Amino acid sequence: MEEKKLYSPKIMKEILERHGFEFSKGLGQNFIIDGNIINKIVDAAGIDDNTGVIEIGPGFGTLTQGLCERAKKVVAIEIDKSLRPVHIDTLGYDNLKIIYDDFMKIDINKLIEEEFEGLKVKLVANLPYYITTPIIMKVLEEKINISGITVMVQKEVAHRLSAKPGGKDYGAISLAVEYRADARISLIVPSTVFMPRPKVDSAVITMDILDKPRVLVSDEKNLFAVIRAAFGQRRKTIHNSLSSNLSIDKAKIKEAIERAGLDPGIRAEMLSIYEFAKLAEEIYR
Ligand code: SAM
Repeated sequence: MEEKKLYSPKIMKEILERHGFEFSKGLGQNFIIDGNIINKIVDAAGIDDNTGVIEIGPGFGTLTQGLCERAKKVVAIEIDKSLRPVHIDTLGYDNLKIIYDDFMKIDINKLIEEEFEGLKVKLVANLPYYITTPIIMKVLEEKINISGITVMVQKEVAHRLSAKPGGKDYGAISLAVEYRADARISLIVPSTVFMPRPKVDSAVITMDILDKPRVLVSDEKNLFAVIRAAFGQRRKTIHNSLSSNLSIDKAKIKEAIERAGLDPGIRAEMLSIYEFAKLAEEIYR
């Protein structure tokens, strides 16, 4: 028998009211009420019956339902324990496990080892907007063993995550993504598909994780220290912003920039990941 579709606003209201559930703005609770969007997210993530999915923040469970119907197994992590009784009503799937905890505290590699043996693993979420960047940085920095990330985020954030050199959206987080993944925006989503409606539009972005980082460097920490320092004062030249933000002699920085074949007068937003890699090697050689 087909499960009833949870994305119906009528069903959602009825069940949430029955449990006396109150939406928490602080936890970024905006639930999807559009079946078409759910299908498109599951399609963009490329989920089939060989896929294990980690979902961050199942909320009422509308996206979780779409994921459970296509994936081999779903492990969802929800911080709000008051949703537990709701989930008993909404999510009776044998291939679903829900962990009530803060995603930021989870050891994801351990979870993957324990729950997803032999499966390719993807991370899918309609992310709580207050914590989008820390979540994405956690996944990229901890080298979690996953093949892809598909997340709904604020439209502006999606543009920053997938930005290429030369524009105002390009920054340290674009480079963190570029270093580890191929990113593309697959969908712009109006605020009308959520309950309650957020103030901003959203976008779905997919990041296919590369087998190995896009560039080889001797020390990743140095690479990202240089990137952060370079964008610390993005309106300044690369020479000035690196000199202000790294504890290294200004003349030595200039020499390193020149050895990397770059113009000290250029700004950080013009440099590709390859150029930052060369620069970091020269600064810390
Ligand atoms: N996936 C649901 C949907 O699309 O309708 C809900 C998405 S809602 C934007 C974000 C969800 O993440 C909420 O259920 C919220 O309680 C949960 N959440 C917020 N912070 C979290 C955290 N640190 N760890 C895990 N879940 C979190």
